[in-house]
Amino acid sequence: MKSSCIIVAGGSGSRMGTELPKQFLPVAGLPLLMHTIRNFYDFDPSLQLILVLPADEITTWDELIRQYRFEIPHEVIAGGVTRFGSVKNGLSMVGDAGLIAVHDGVRPLVSHETLARCFSCAVENGSAIPVLPANESVRKGSMSASVPVDRSHYFLVQTPQVFKASILQESYKQSWIADFTDDASVVEHAGTAVRLVMGNRENIKITFPEDLLIAGLFLKPTVKF
Ligand code: C5P
Repeated sequence: MKSSCIIVAGGSGSRMGTELPKQFLPVAGLPLLMHTIRNFYDFDPSLQLILVLPADEITTWDELIRQYRFEIPHEVIAGGVTRFGSVKNGLSMVGDAGLIAVHDGVRPLVSHETLARCFSCAVENGSAIPVLPANESVRKGSMSASVPVDRSHYFLVQTPQVFKASILQESYKQSWIADFTDDASVVEHAGTAVRLVMGNRENIKITFPEDLLIAGLFLKPTVKF
């Protein structure tokens, strides 16, 4: 079955505090986003890779592609104001796919085992999102008033989130609401339950400067041209 992967990197990444958007920051000799694209290509070179970027960063990306002689085939489209809008724009580029994966561009460390679990569960069940059980104590409330909750009922959600194409395409016809933080929340709001599979612990979403240091420990060094 042919599959497409929408890699969303349309955010400004303002929490990183750097001038260059975080998805372009170099780690182990290569911009972060190139590690993410390469990881999916190494997993399955037949995947249609669609990269969603902020409209005003597309020329920066073109420049980086030349600079690093990056040759992995992918299509580029401008993002929206929200992640939901960015995924929607990405969906407009999807060809004849049975499954569609949506992945955060700033998660270069998803393992091939996690990817295999996501794709095979989505083939069987129509959906799959990778999660990790909460391993720390969890509380609910505010800084001044909170209560402990049973952590065995909570999971931390990662990407890629993989769906049968028709389920995702139908779900993204809804109007945006603020509760949509990922694709699973969009699909569930449209009335379809989602299945969970195990993610991997290194699959962090690079958000703060220290996350880059961690990613640098795991990513393979690459020759810089
Ligand atoms: O903002 P957050 O960290 O949840 O973003 C998750 C992913 O969604 C990031 O890869 C980010 O670049 C992407 N995103 C996007 N378009 C937006 C906002 C976020 O593609 N407008």
